[in-house]
Amino acid sequence: MIVMKFGGTSLAGAAQIRQVGGIVRRFARSRPVVVVSAMAGVTDELIALAERSVSGLPREVSGRLDRLQRRHRREARLLGLSEGSGGRLERELEALFTELEGVCHGVLLLHELSRRSLDLISSFGERLSALLVTDHLRSLGLRAQFVDARDHIVTDESHGAAVVDFDATYRNLRRGILPGVRKGHLPVVTGFIGRTRQGATTTLGRSGSDYTASILGGALRAEEVWIWKEVDGVCTADPNLVKSARVVARISYQEAAEMAHYGAEVIHPKTMLPARRGHIPIRIKNTFNPNAPGTLITSRPGARGKAPLLVSSIDGMALVTVEGTGIFGQPGMILRLLTPVALAGTNIYMISMSSSEYNVSFAIMQGDLEKTLKALEKDFRDRGLLGEQVAHITVERDMCAIAVVGAGMKGQHGIAGRVFSALGDAGVNVVAIAQGSSEYNITVVTRGRDMKKGVRAIHDRLNVGRAALRRARRPALRLVSGRAR
Ligand code: ASP
Ligand code: MG
Repeated sequence: MIVMKFGGTSLAGAAQIRQVGGIVRRFARSRPVVVVSAMAGVTDELIALAERSVSGLPREVSGRLDRLQRRHRREARLLGLSEGSGGRLERELEALFTELEGVCHGVLLLHELSRRSLDLISSFGERLSALLVTDHLRSLGLRAQFVDARDHIVTDESHGAAVVDFDATYRNLRRGILPGVRKGHLPVVTGFIGRTRQGATTTLGRSGSDYTASILGGALRAEEVWIWKEVDGVCTADPNLVKSARVVARISYQEAAEMAHYGAEVIHPKTMLPARRGHIPIRIKNTFNPNAPGTLITSRPGARGKAPLLVSSIDGMALVTVEGTGIFGQPGMILRLLTPVALAGTNIYMISMSSSEYNVSFAIMQGDLEKTLKALEKDFRDRGLLGEQVAHITVERDMCAIAVVGAGMKGQHGIAGRVFSALGDAGVNVVAIAQGSSEYNITVVTRGRDMKKGVRAIHDRLNVGRAALRRARRPALRLVSGRAR
């Protein structure tokens, strides 16, 4: 069994869904379990819809609802589905849009958009796309079955990034889905969404359908999880920034997680957890170039010293520095310092601390800056720590983090040296540095406007391009191609 997840770009419209249908049919003998994202842009549309509803703009809300509805119906028609399914699809679409309209109406009336309602509204994208894909696969003669992931994936109440209860979820999935697969059914599962024990709809975080796929892979003990995207695989750097960036043939779960954390939008970072635990390889494949081998993610990193080094980057960051003799040198200080940051819900991308403990810097997304500063200042004030002599906080905005990731750097001399000399030669000023003690990651913070230059300089100096290209040319794994028709 292979779990195959198709992202929004792979489902942008009828033409793309046909392409997806062709792929699923081609691998039908591998007993695919299909997981889908919403059609491209639909989740963003739904979030905008929710925001318009709470601002009390009924005209705009109905306009947006209309557009969403028309788009899904049009693509269904282009797929030739409307008549073929005896009006059933029509009725199902109708029911979903009536429900969505009802929820938006509630938000309009109450002028209140809870995270719970936002999750419910966001859930419609996957519920709609899964309906279309199910019917399209049926029209190809496959025994596709619509599966609402909410009936199986149990989460807590952290709306927007819900935490999965693995015991309950795996039990449900094994009971609910395995028997059908064994009988030759082909489940089409809504990505991204789950449900609390109390029955509220939750989402697993943006781009969470990858995670859904890997949860399914873990529960059903799939042979592999394939993430179908619009790119050939994980690249040595963002190809939009670096022309010589190349697809890598193989990386480890840990490298993939680090890359995802530092902005490479290839795969959701949580995806690696269930796969790693169940020893299930993940393969990144291109829907629009299905014969390319893609990138294989397993526990085994590439050969030591030869594995490519990957350069990843995120901009729009702020670097917060706390300094002051008054607060440091006490055990537990870092914990206390960062607790209000965590409680504010801010994700820290890197920390660097001088050994005198005189200052600590950490990088966060600029969007989180305001609430983080508020939380820190309040905490310091409450403890009487704020003030020039005791501690003060400085902020540098418009920064970026550039991460060099790779098992290839473990135990190798001189990688950090090459990174910094490359940046120095390119005239990029390094503001803060952190190296993970796992030796899988070196992260530097620089000015945002230097990002492109910095990424290029590092990528070219480490010369990952050629080695990676050689690897990428290897043929695809035989496992599935042998089974394909
Ligand atoms: N549709 C959701 C999003 O856009 C989930 C996903 O695409 O994986 O975030
Ligand atoms: Mg998406």
